[in-house]
Amino acid sequence: MILNIASISGDGIGPEIVREARKVLDKVAEKYGHDIIYKDVLMGGASIDVHGVPLTEEAINVCKESDAVLMGSIGGNTSTSPWYKLEPSKRPEAGLLAIRKALNLFANLRPAVLYPQLRGACPLKEEISKAGFDMLIMRELTGGLYFGERKTVEENGEKKAIDTLTYTESEIRRIAVKAFEIARVRNKKVTSVDKANVLDSSRLWRKIAEEVAKDYPDVTLEHMLVDNCAMQLVKDPAQFDVILTENMFGDILSDEASMVTGSIGMLASASMNDTKFGLYEPSHGSAPDIAGKNIANPLATILSAAMMLKYSFDLHEEAKAIEDAINKVLDEGYRTVDIMSEGMKEVSCSEMGDLVTANI
Ligand code: NAD
Repeated sequence: MILNIASISGDGIGPEIVREARKVLDKVAEKYGHDIIYKDVLMGGASIDVHGVPLTEEAINVCKESDAVLMGSIGGNTSTSPWYKLEPSKRPEAGLLAIRKALNLFANLRPAVLYPQLRGACPLKEEISKAGFDMLIMRELTGGLYFGERKTVEENGEKKAIDTLTYTESEIRRIAVKAFEIARVRNKKVTSVDKANVLDSSRLWRKIAEEVAKDYPDVTLEHMLVDNCAMQLVKDPAQFDVILTENMFGDILSDEASMVTGSIGMLASASMNDTKFGLYEPSHGSAPDIAGKNIANPLATILSAAMMLKYSFDLHEEAKAIEDAINKVLDEGYRTVDIMSEGMKEVSCSEMGDLVTANI
């Protein structure tokens, strides 16, 4: 198979972690007989330095012509970097919003996995963490409260602020389909999270989720109110497989789920449109405080590359080979500094990439 991948290193630790992910992908390609064609794309601060803008039309076109995008991270130190003296629309993060819009990436996928080897970093009580968990939050990314009409008016001598939360049937259906498709290749359970006891948008959300579920009889659908979900994430996270939810609920719940893993350097993510196309990146930022020191944890980016193989290329065996290699390296006690604990062996960013590659 030929894999056309747009590769965005970005800023800060971005080039270091993308280099390691590509190393691992190249080994997978060699072992399983695939050809990877990378096209390097500038974005964020790296693009500002060359083109004066965080994302060019040409960069967008290269991404559109690819099968998938692998990305490091974007942005610099927001208090000291000259990029943040520019007007907001010219700053590094504007490139991120622009690419999501240009590529119609409406589904955000964030797995939260508790690796048994890193259980000590989990802030939950041992009686809860010992069950482990492996969930994926599927958040709608382009609708809802963050994109609704908003205004502030003056009424009876005081200010009144109004934000509107709207969802159309088709917006709900396309993300629900994505959630069921992905649950099918995971543990076949979708928990649709809403506030249907109060909100009309949630009642429509629930109705469409039930309609879509009829096409997936092999996947179990359950509904959960968002306030209960926030509690269940810390009480019994092992019950979840795919959590399907709207934009703002997903924003909050995905951060909560990330926190309970305790390891920011291990969190992968993907943003997808209604085809197999996706942009794959770690959940963390560009960590300017450790950039250039070869100490960043590359595993979130390597896990994002595994998600790319799974969801954009249907290469499930290859993705599993990466996940298994990571587990083996963790089993053997190798840790980057962010996940280091007593008795383990500390390795650099590039050494971690080499170890995973060697275990493919
Ligand atoms: P951050 O995630 O970059 O860093 C937070 C802390 O976690 C830092 O101490 C950092 O050293 C550490 N950390 C993060 N990733 C790590 C890794 N792989 N290995 C080891 N340690 C790691 O968040 P921040 O400091 O708030 O943001 C820094 C920059 O990143 C800002 O410009 C921000 O806008 C940007 N950012 C970009 C993205 C993105 O590209 N999608 C996402 C979030 C933040």
